[in-house]
Amino acid sequence: MPRVPEAVRPPVDLPPWADLGEWARLRAYVAVTDRCWIYTGALADDGYGRFWAPTAAAAEGRSENVRPSRWVWQAHNGPIPAGSVIRHDCDVTLCVRPACLRLGDQTDNLGDALRRDRVTHPGRVGKADRRGAATAARELRTAVLAATGRGVFDPAELGAVLAGVRTDGDPFADHGRLF
Ligand SMILES: [Zn+2]
Repeated sequence: MPRVPEAVRPPVDLPPWADLGEWARLRAYVAVTDRCWIYTGALADDGYGRFWAPTAAAAEGRSENVRPSRWVWQAHNGPIPAGSVIRHDCDVTLCVRPACLRLGDQTDNLGDALRRDRVTHPGRVGKADRRGAATAARELRTAVLAATGRGVFDPAELGAVLAGVRTDGDPFADHGRLF
C-alpha cells in the first residue's frame, strides 16, 4: 500500500490510548482534508478500511485486523464497550477523523442508515451510493492518493476531491459533470 506524504498526515501527537507503533503506521495512510480524514490503506469488501493492528485487535478479542475508525475511536476514548459500533456522522466509511466518530449500538447504526436512506428496499433504489459501498470506498481512496501524488496537500483542495467523489455516487445528482 502506498503511503501518503507527511504533509497531509494527521498531527503527530500520540492519542492517549494508542499504541505508538500502530499510530505511526496508521498516520502514514491517513490524508487530512478540511472535512474528513481519509484512510487510504487496505480495504475490506464492505467498504470499510482494514488496519493491521495486533495490539488494538487483541483488546477487541480479534486476531490482527481492525477497522481504522474503531482503532481511532479507542485510541482517543479507551476500550470500545462490547457490542458497540462506531458510527460516522459524516457517512464516509473511510473517515477516521475523531470528530466524525461516535459510539453507538447496532440499533443506532440501523437508524442512521434508515435516516440517510442507505437501506434499499425491493423496487426502490434509495439514496445509497449507486456504486455500492466497496466501489465507492475504492474510488475515494484512488482519488485521494492520486491527488496527494500530484502534490495536492492543501486540506481544502483535498476536501474538494472528497466532495467530487461523493457527488459521483449520488443517485440524484446530475451525472453530466463538467470536469
Ligand atoms: Zn468524516
